[in-house]
Amino acid sequence: MVSRDLLPENPPHLPVGSSRYYLSLAASLDPARDPIAAQTVRTDAEDVVLPHESVDPLAEARFMPVPRLIHRYPNRVLLLACERCATYCRHCFRRHFTGQSGGQIKSEDLARVASYVGKHLEIDEVLISGGDPLMLDDERLVSILDAIQAAVDPRALLFRIATRMPVVMPKRITVTLAKRLREHGKGRVWVVTQVNHPREMTPAFAQAIACFVDQGIPVLNQAVLLRGVNNDVDVLAELFGGLLRARVKPYYLFQGDLAAGTSHFRTTIDEGLDLMDALRDRLSGMAMPTYAVDLPDGGGKIVLTRATVQGIRDGSYLLLDRAGQQHRYPYEG
Ligand SMILES: *Cc1c(COP(=O)(O)O)cnc(C)c1O
Repeated sequence: MVSRDLLPENPPHLPVGSSRYYLSLAASLDPARDPIAAQTVRTDAEDVVLPHESVDPLAEARFMPVPRLIHRYPNRVLLLACERCATYCRHCFRRHFTGQSGGQIKSEDLARVASYVGKHLEIDEVLISGGDPLMLDDERLVSILDAIQAAVDPRALLFRIATRMPVVMPKRITVTLAKRLREHGKGRVWVVTQVNHPREMTPAFAQAIACFVDQGIPVLNQAVLLRGVNNDVDVLAELFGGLLRARVKPYYLFQGDLAAGTSHFRTTIDEGLDLMDALRDRLSGMAMPTYAVDLPDGGGKIVLTRATVQGIRDGSYLLLDRAGQQHRYPYEG
């Protein structure tokens, strides 16, 4: 067999790697039986790349006005601060960037990003993402906030830090970091993390969250609906209820993106809707996330409800956006 690495048209491989801490949460290293192993241990299922899958399923490359900056929605932009992660999630949707050779953002790229945000007065929020931006040290991270804020003064930006560190390396979160983020973000920093299974909510996780929340930094969670990990009403009820008790607001539950080699993780949208209905009967409204999908080809996020999912035609779900336009997402049932 020809090695896939020799074929240039093949998707880049997402590196394999996990923090010792995160792996220690696994009861077994069998991805078929353990939710932690399923998210970290590479299996042959990743070699199955479906025709409608892509290493860049959200077409982020098309929405990059300057390197490292994704501008898809008028008022908010997403910065790819760093390509590395403490743990490489096997369901990663940003495989065109994560763990590849980009490195952390260089000062000339940061200057171009800051200048772009400075010139575009409609931008009022900057998402700092990656990779995981908390792979950068505190100094570098706050220097990114400072550079962007300095370019927009006196306009006041909101910063949203997207990180899995509370889950995969909770020790990375310190009171010192939280204080610096509050100061350099001028009190306008939010954190968004990704907890996908109740087993990930350890005392160390709760302590990491407390560092942020006690400093006045609100924390939200974006979970991904993952077959074999959390596509179960009891698991999701425990997850979202537990997050609330840890003072984390469940924000999104994402339908799996069409990322290359991740079809084994995806459920149907029907299954997701059934899970959401069952959860609503059991949970506080505050614990309910919004079930949503990022449309293939850069169409942006669409909320998935009984009203917006309009059935299946010719092998695709028909999804209605807020403007009343129909979009397609493949039916894989
Ligand atoms: C998801 C996303 C956002 C943020 O969307 P919200 O609905 O505000 O959470 C912003 N920019 C890009 C490119 C995104 O993918």
